[in-house]
Amino acid sequence: MSFAAVLDNLALRKSGAVRQFEQLIAPKSDDELESMAQDSRVLTLRNFGRTMRLFAPLYLSNECINNCRYCGFSRDNPILRVTLSVDEVAAEARYLLAAGFRQILLVAGEHPKFVGGGYLTDCVRALSPDFPSIAIEVGPMTTDEYMPVVRAGAEGLVVYQETYHRGVYAELHTAGPKRDFDFRLDSPERAYAAGFRRIGIGALLGLWRWQDEATALAAHVEYLLHRCWQAQITVSLPRLRPAAGGFRPLFSISDRELAQLICALRLTFPQVGIVLSTRERPALRDALVSLGVTMMSAGSHTEPGGYTGRGVEHLHHTVRGRIVPPEFQDGEDQLATGQFEISDDRSPEEVATLLRARGLEPVWKDWEQTLTG
Ligand code: SF4
Repeated sequence: MSFAAVLDNLALRKSGAVRQFEQLIAPKSDDELESMAQDSRVLTLRNFGRTMRLFAPLYLSNECINNCRYCGFSRDNPILRVTLSVDEVAAEARYLLAAGFRQILLVAGEHPKFVGGGYLTDCVRALSPDFPSIAIEVGPMTTDEYMPVVRAGAEGLVVYQETYHRGVYAELHTAGPKRDFDFRLDSPERAYAAGFRRIGIGALLGLWRWQDEATALAAHVEYLLHRCWQAQITVSLPRLRPAAGGFRPLFSISDRELAQLICALRLTFPQVGIVLSTRERPALRDALVSLGVTMMSAGSHTEPGGYTGRGVEHLHHTVRGRIVPPEFQDGEDQLATGQFEISDDRSPEEVATLLRARGLEPVWKDWEQTLTG
C-alpha cells in the first residue's frame, strides 16, 4: 500500500504509535511537558550520544517553474535569479569546507531548463571528493533520474511535503509540476529505490493546523521506517519565515508547542534524526539543542552565491523561461534573492562553541561512503 492510501485513511485507521504520538502533542501542563523533555533528553543521549551533526545548505539555483504562494523563488516573483556554474558551486563549497563542514545539502528550485539531472550530477561529482556526506533538496525526480545522482556521490535526499492536507496543498501550489501531490509524496520511496540512504521529510509549519500536519508526518515516518528500513530517516520542522512575495502564515505554532512536538517525535521514534535550521532564532535554537535535535545547520545562506558572492555577473530576471537582464537602481543590492530570511546568523564556529558549552560535541562528519560500499 502506498503512503497516499495510508494518509487518505488516517482519520479512520491509525497505528498504536501514531495514536500515542497524538496524545503526546495534546495540550500539556508545565509539569507534564517538563517530564516529556526529560525523557526526550535521555532517549536522545542513549541513541545519539552527546553529539550534534552540523551541515550547511548550498543553494545552486533560485530558478523555479512552480508557484508556491509561500516561497520567494516562485516563478511569478520578479526576483533576481541565477544558477551557479559547476565551478562557482565548487567555490562556494570550498568556502564551506574551510569553515569546517563535511556535510552539505545542495538546494535548488525546480526548473528543468536550468537545473537538469545532468547539472545536478556534475555538481555532486565535483564536490564528492571533499564532502563524504552530500544530500540534495531539489524538485522530485523519477527513480531513473535519481540513480546517476547517487552514483555521482550523493547519499541523502530531503523532500518536504510542505502540507499533508490535500485541499490546502492544491490552494497553495497554484502552477507547475509541484501541483502533483502524490508524485511528491512518493519521492522518498523512489529515492530509496535509487540508492539514497539518508532520507529527510518534513512539513512546513504555518500552512495548516500543526497538530494535523504533525500526525500525518508521524504516520509518514512510521511508514518509511518500515518501507525504507536501510535508510536513516530524518525529520525537519521548518516554520514559515518571511520571503519575497510577502506570504503570511495562515496558522501558527508557538515556541512551546514546537518544543513539545520535538519531544513527541523523539519519544515515539527514538532513532529518528531531528533537524533544526537557522530559520529559528538563536535563543530558541540554544534551548532546543538538548531536547531531541540531532542535526543543525549553521552560518547558512539561502541565496545562490551567498557565501562567496559568486554568480553576481549572471544575475537576471526570468520571464516565462526567458532570461531578461536586470536594471539595477542606484544603491540596490546586486545579490540573488534568497528563499527566505534566516533568524540565526551566527557563524558555524560560534554555534560549535555554544554546543560545546552545552556538553555536546559538534560533528562535522560522521559518514564515510567507503565504509558502506
Ligand atoms: S518551494 Fe520549491 S518548488 Fe515551490 S517555488 Fe519555492 S523553490 Fe520552487
